[in-house]
Amino acid sequence: MDFLTASVSRATDIAIVTHTHPDGDAMGCSIALLCWLESIGKKAGIVLDDRYPESLEFMVGEYGSRITVSEEEPGKAAAALRNCDLIFCLDLNSIERTESLAEHIAANRCPKILVDHHLNPAVGQFSAIFSETGISSASELLYNVLLAVPGIDSDARKIPLKAAEALLTGMTTDTNNFANSVYPSTFRMASELLAAGVDRDRILSDLYMNYRENRFRLLGRLLDRNLRITAEGAAYIIIDADTYREFDIREGETEGFVNMPLGIKNVRMSILLKEEKDRFRVSVRSKKGVSANRFAAEYFNGGGHELASGGKLLKGSGFDGGVRELEEYLKKSIEDFFEKETI
Ligand code: 5GP
Ligand code: MN
Repeated sequence: MDFLTASVSRATDIAIVTHTHPDGDAMGCSIALLCWLESIGKKAGIVLDDRYPESLEFMVGEYGSRITVSEEEPGKAAAALRNCDLIFCLDLNSIERTESLAEHIAANRCPKILVDHHLNPAVGQFSAIFSETGISSASELLYNVLLAVPGIDSDARKIPLKAAEALLTGMTTDTNNFANSVYPSTFRMASELLAAGVDRDRILSDLYMNYRENRFRLLGRLLDRNLRITAEGAAYIIIDADTYREFDIREGETEGFVNMPLGIKNVRMSILLKEEKDRFRVSVRSKKGVSANRFAAEYFNGGGHELASGGKLLKGSGFDGGVRELEEYLKKSIEDFFEKETI
């Protein structure tokens, strides 16, 4: 804590980075940290590899002007990371998870502080590490960090309200609205933030009652036609690029789909594969006793948490096929995985 406090007070220009394809937790803790830093008079900005989903705009609001997206303004993003004198890395276990930002983060010799809840943090990359896997989200971990800073003194009501709202939003999305990774500390955080004036009803409405119809039309199609369940109890869905176009699906609009097949009694692991321009992205979720993390790490260059992980196969480097070859690769991977899975 002393290192964090001293680093913040010395810094004149602070950058906040998080993982590529930022989700509710990544954006929640980034916005919360930005909001707190500005409240104590610091100059700070968020640098992203790619744009956050439109569905999270409600949380970003006025902070949008302090966000630089490398995919859109690579020069500006590189300059922001070159010129800053402190970098906070949030909701990622290694700087490679920021993709295009990683080389600029590595090149800057300033202090780097990690706040994260994933397995296997790359400890050598950071000057100080707040890493805890037995917690709901990076937002919950940042909440605890903020409670410990001078000026907040363990009183949630002293966290700026916008920051408090962003933290509750991040925790809510990473726990799937209190369905997974919930600990006694998670309820305590929620309780303290509600008491501090956070409007949870509004957050839930913004998060879960505000989708475009397309999402549900696509979900209907996928559950009807694309869902497969293997003899081992692995469910998988592949969404190809044509289907994305057909339903006019935007980034973030398939959030939560991967969880649904886990509701089926004999399903032990659920896999969602999405075709993108240069890669296939995978999301993996599992029930207790099956390691989504090991599956994502071993077959999809990824990782994350024991029961919720992600990864990717880059087209043309190591994996040269299309959707049909991908399905063959996936089926073989599932067979191989369950032969070895003993936990
Ligand atoms: P999601 O399936 O929601 O994209 O990701 C699930 C979890 O896995 C998240 O905690 C996310 O940060 C992590 N994750 C997603 N993609 C990757 C990846 O390519 N590499 C690693 N190491 N983790 C990932
Ligand atoms: Mn997270």
